[in-house]
Amino acid sequence: MTNEPVRLFYPARLNSAPEMRILIADDDATSRLELTAIASKLGHDCLVATDGSSAWELLSSEKFDVLLSDWMMPGLDGLELCRRVRDELDGGYLYIVLITVLGHCEEVFEGMSAGADDYLIKPIDPFALRSRLVAAERVTGLHHRLADSQAQLKMANRELLSLSLTDSLTGLGNRRRMEEDLTRTHARALRVGRSYGLILFDIDHFKPYNDRYGHQAGDEALRQVARCLDEGTREDESIYRYGGEEFLVLLPDCNADDAASAAERIRQVVTDAAIAHETRPTASPVLTVSGGVACWSPNSSQSVADLLFRADEALFAAKAAGRDRVCMAPAAFAAS
Ligand code: GH3
Ligand code: MG
Ligand code: MG
Repeated sequence: MTNEPVRLFYPARLNSAPEMRILIADDDATSRLELTAIASKLGHDCLVATDGSSAWELLSSEKFDVLLSDWMMPGLDGLELCRRVRDELDGGYLYIVLITVLGHCEEVFEGMSAGADDYLIKPIDPFALRSRLVAAERVTGLHHRLADSQAQLKMANRELLSLSLTDSLTGLGNRRRMEEDLTRTHARALRVGRSYGLILFDIDHFKPYNDRYGHQAGDEALRQVARCLDEGTREDESIYRYGGEEFLVLLPDCNADDAASAAERIRQVVTDAAIAHETRPTASPVLTVSGGVACWSPNSSQSVADLLFRADEALFAAKAAGRDRVCMAPAAFAAS
């Protein structure tokens, strides 16, 4: 005798209910044939297993809606199969009908407590099986709909989370995302003893830009600058809208020299974009940014807030020195 599963499918449908995949587990060949004939005639896709262990193998590797399981089987019996399904099987809901012989009704309660949804008494009455399958269809249908709505809810939650961390004007990470990422980067830098850098950029003379071109053009300029920052940064570097016309670039695993070069490279990308700004009070007729760079190193006792403060001071120095440039904050060392 072989334990190979036998697939039996009769395409002729006698009802219009959606087809279910049914696993029939029974060591008795006549019962298997009877159950298969009835369920297949109702239009369901049936697979049979000749003992509990091969039934479990099939259940672990394939997806079924219903298990019709004999109680007494070699290997795993019906009761143990029920327990395993409820304890160990992930995925969609499996509706279990346990089949027992007439006169063993006390087994029914044990089986239902172990996870069976319903029971059938041998010899099988076709009407009784058909009724059980109607209930099975209703319950598995409900579980499918529940799983669908849960998946939709999960997706909606993911989208909402992503939206709550995104700046709606530029599509960059917003301040909340920046704070989360900074905290994570700082903790990692402390743990692995690596430095990281921050650049704070601010658009130069942006108020006169708005005054000259209007607020909507100002919004578009902010988007253009965001695209330039994106173009000027590398894959592991992240950009955030810090607020207003200020942006922050986070450079993980980066020393002071590399941070200064990155800041200069990004500043140049903005200048090269040549976004017209006729009314700025200085000679250059294009939109520019100034940047303040600060670096955290493992020998520093500074917090994220200290680092941001230093980047802001360096930005102020860049503004004071004439704008359209980047300034580096002096290195900070731990107090000895
Ligand atoms: P500085 O070179 O010193 O930075 O001069 P500034 O004119 O850029 O600085 P100021 O702080 O005086 O002005 C910032 C301007 O940025 C004023 C404000 O209206 C504009 N701004 C901030 N957020 C937005 C925004 O979302 N859209 C637009 N269009 N303008 C914004
Ligand atoms: Mg500003
Ligand atoms: Mg500004």
